[in-house]
Parts: sequence; structure tokens; C-alpha cells
Amino acid sequence: MERHTSWRAGGAARYYAEPAMSEEARRLAAWARERGLPLVWAGRGTNTLVRDEGFAGLIAAYRAQAWQLDEAGDTALLSVEAGAPMAGLARRLGAMGWAGLAWAEGLPGTVGGAVVGNAGCYGGDVAGILHSAEILIGEMVETWPVARLRYDYRTSALKGATDTDAPPLVLAATFRLTRGDPAELAAHMAAIAAQRKSKTPAGSSCGSVFKNPPGESAGRLIEAAGLKGHAVGDAVISSAHANYIVNTGAATAADILALIEIVRAEVLRQFGVPLELEVRIL
Ligand SMILES: Cc1cc2nc3c(=O)[nH]c(=O)nc-3n(C[C@H](O)[C@H](O)[C@H](O)COP(=O)(O)OP(=O)(O)OC[C@H]3O[C@@H](n4cnc5c(N)ncnc54)[C@H](O)[C@@H]3O)c2cc1C
Repeated sequence: MERHTSWRAGGAARYYAEPAMSEEARRLAAWARERGLPLVWAGRGTNTLVRDEGFAGLIAAYRAQAWQLDEAGDTALLSVEAGAPMAGLARRLGAMGWAGLAWAEGLPGTVGGAVVGNAGCYGGDVAGILHSAEILIGEMVETWPVARLRYDYRTSALKGATDTDAPPLVLAATFRLTRGDPAELAAHMAAIAAQRKSKTPAGSSCGSVFKNPPGESAGRLIEAAGLKGHAVGDAVISSAHANYIVNTGAATAADILALIEIVRAEVLRQFGVPLELEVRIL
């Protein structure tokens, strides 16, 4: 799975697929169910690590990307399939003069991954703009209003269900947008892109490894613990941003996991704060 995850590390999936439409996804899920294989839905793998031992089931990365805009005066509802890239969508809608997604400029990953994990940055998050999500559960397609997703910081009702025997698939999301000035939006997004560029360490990573503890910054704690630059194999705690672990070459999942355990143990020992993973380990 190192070819399908942004950390560029990890073992093999027994089966890997890229369904491009909901019917393909439905048939893949039935196929896995018949064989008793565990199933994981994926997006672009920018928040996922597969252990070196591999995953003994099917990983299916959803690729449907169509979208449609329903305008009503100064507001619009954007319905978009879950395989669409968040950053590309934000740019396209911004250029059309629709505000709401600007914060997602440069955010790696898909709409589906963002909806599941309540992705957020630069003053916005999915919870703040989602109207509803279309979800495949078993053979049924359900429309969930945003309240049903029970959003909180980097989590949702769906996130807890991703590890079950029949994980729900986000097929599509509907976002609420408002009309904005294209030039102002372009300037705002250019500022976000510049900030992101200056803060993002170079190299392969999964973004922030740990969630921020309440009222704290995980990166600040890791830095204060003296762990910047600490390495296991080719996995290194970034000296630019301590909540990033960068694969500088041929890091294995075991290297990254060992570093994660060192960080957790040191931050707990020095500050009494247990760090929770933002990244999903398979
Ligand atoms: C350099 C870098 C910077 C980042 N910066 C940020 C940031 O600023 N803010 C932020 O919130 N995140 C950030 N991230 C993390 C990542 O971008 C988000 O978590 C993103 O939403 C993950 O999307 P994905 O498609 O890659 O999901 P994946 O990693 O493929 O999957 C993540 C989870 O979602 C589930 N999933 C994915 N798609 C579906 C679907 N269609 N249906 C059901 N379940 C699904 C998977 O099973 C898994 O549990 C960053 C990552 C990187 C590499």
C-alpha cells in the first residue's frame, strides 16, 4: 500500500480496488462479504498507514468524482461524489465565486475522507459546511443530515463505524455555499496556500499524526519533549513541525509505529498527557 498512501510506507493489501461508481462499490462490498473478507473504504490514503504485515482483506479506494451545483440566489448546494479531491474542488468553486470551501485550499485527500474525519484547517471544517451525506450501508443508500454525523474535532459517527464488518461508504456529500467575490476568494486562498507551504514539512507524510489534546497543541508538546529530529530508520519527527513524521526515504510502517510509541511514551512521561492518533492504522 505504499503506492496508495501519502506516507509511502506499509505492507500489501490482499485485494485492492478503485471503484469508479456506486454500483461497482456495492458489488465489491457484496463480493468481500461473500468471502468473509474484511473491507476498508479508502480515499487517497493521506491519513492512513497499513502495517508492514499487510491487510488480509479488501481495500477499496472510492474514485467517483462528479459534482453538481444547485444555485438559489446568493446560496447554492454543491453535491459532489466522495472520490473528488477536496483541494481541487475548493479551487474550482472559488474561481466560480462560491465561498465556503476556501479553507480546504491545499488540503490533501478526498471528500469522503474529509467527511469521515471532519477534516479542517485555516478556520473551517467539514462540519461547518456540510448539509448532508449520502451513505451506502449494506445494500441501502441513506441520506444523513449533518446532525446525524455527530461531528466533533476530527471525528464523526462514521469514523467509529469504519472498523466494523460492514463499514459505511460515503458516496457523496452536499455542501452549503454562499456567493462571494472571486478576486477576494482568490486572494484569501493564495494566502492560505502560502501559509500551508511555509508550515508543511517537505517529504512524504500523513499530515498531523496526533490530535491536539483539549486546549493544547500536540506539536508543541512533542517539541517541548525534545523530540524534534528524533528518528527510527528513515522515519523522522520533522524539525519544521513536530506533529509530522516524515518518511525521508525507505521508512517501514514499523519504523513509523515505533516513533509513534516513543512520542506517546515521552509526552505522557514528561507532561502526563496521553496523545490520541489522528491517523488510521490498518
Ligand atoms: C501534508 C498533509 C497535510 C494535511 N493537512 C491536514 C489539515 O490541515 N487538516 C486535516 O484535517 N487533515 C489534514 N491532513 C490529513 C488528510 O488530508 C485528511 O485526513 C483527509 O481528509 C484524508 O482524506 P483521504 O481521502 O486521504 O482519506 P484516507 O486516508 O484514504 O481515509 C481516511 C479515513 O476515512 C475513511 N474513508 C475515506 N474515504 C471514505 C469513503 N468514501 N467512505 C467511507 N470511509 C472513507 C477511511 O476508511 C479512513 O478511515 C493532511 C495530510 C497530509 C498528507
